[in-house]
Amino acid sequence: GVVIDGLHKSYGPVEVLKGIDLEVAPGQVVCLIGPSGSGKSTLLRCVNLLEQPNGGSIDVGGYDVTDPDIDVDAMRRNVGMVFQQFNLFPHLTVLENCTVAQQKVLKRKKPDADRIAEKNLAKVGLGEFGDRYPDQLSGGQQQRVAIARALSMDPKLMLFDEPTSALDPETVGEVLSIMRNLAKDGMTMLVVTHEMAFARDVADRVVFMDDGVVVESGPAAQVIGDPQTPRMQDFLKRVL
Ligand code: ATP
Ligand code: MG
Repeated sequence: GVVIDGLHKSYGPVEVLKGIDLEVAPGQVVCLIGPSGSGKSTLLRCVNLLEQPNGGSIDVGGYDVTDPDIDVDAMRRNVGMVFQQFNLFPHLTVLENCTVAQQKVLKRKKPDADRIAEKNLAKVGLGEFGDRYPDQLSGGQQQRVAIARALSMDPKLMLFDEPTSALDPETVGEVLSIMRNLAKDGMTMLVVTHEMAFARDVADRVVFMDDGVVVESGPAAQVIGDPQTPRMQDFLKRVL
């Protein structure tokens, strides 16, 4: 799981995260929602140290990632991240996209890496697509490859940053359905999304952020179904 306590992050004089407390229990799904610029991506990026926090602590599966002595590579191995833009390597096949980090970072032998990649490609419904290149796939298929690639590293935690925002409407559902299956399998997930139906159905808890603070959090049905603050009510009016 993840325990974030009093997280602060500034860019120069601008404080973007102003003391965030947030917890994802093992096996749970937390959806993070909020308006543009509220700090959602920055929060995710702090969790796997793509950004260095300025204060507070983040515990990921027992590692304090804000400890200056931490082995960043060891920590990152436990955390899979899926972005809005799929960030696949265009010159590598689908299978190679899913094996390169296994071989380089985890030092797996090629046959093992191939087998694990194939298993995860099958899991996202792309078992027959290993030989293709990313530009021969739809956006939804590319995003599913990105998920299979992350899963091939055996993460203990998956971070998703608006994984369906760049997709054509007709392919959004296929990616959400993969994420639903992952949740059902017990993956610990922190998901930034504007998909309120997904949040309502899948999230154990929903956290609403605005302007660098957590404004509301709780069970999905409560936060989405019965918002308490004018800020959350305004936000829901715009996204629902
Ligand atoms: P969106 O929904 O548009 O993705 P967000 O909630 O993910 O928004 P962030 O990307 O975390 O928001 O940005 C929060 C604030 O931090 C914004 O005001 C943004 O301009 C600022 N910011 C983000 N990254 C940097 C950076 N590298 N340098 C300076 N300011 C930044
Ligand atoms: Mg963002």
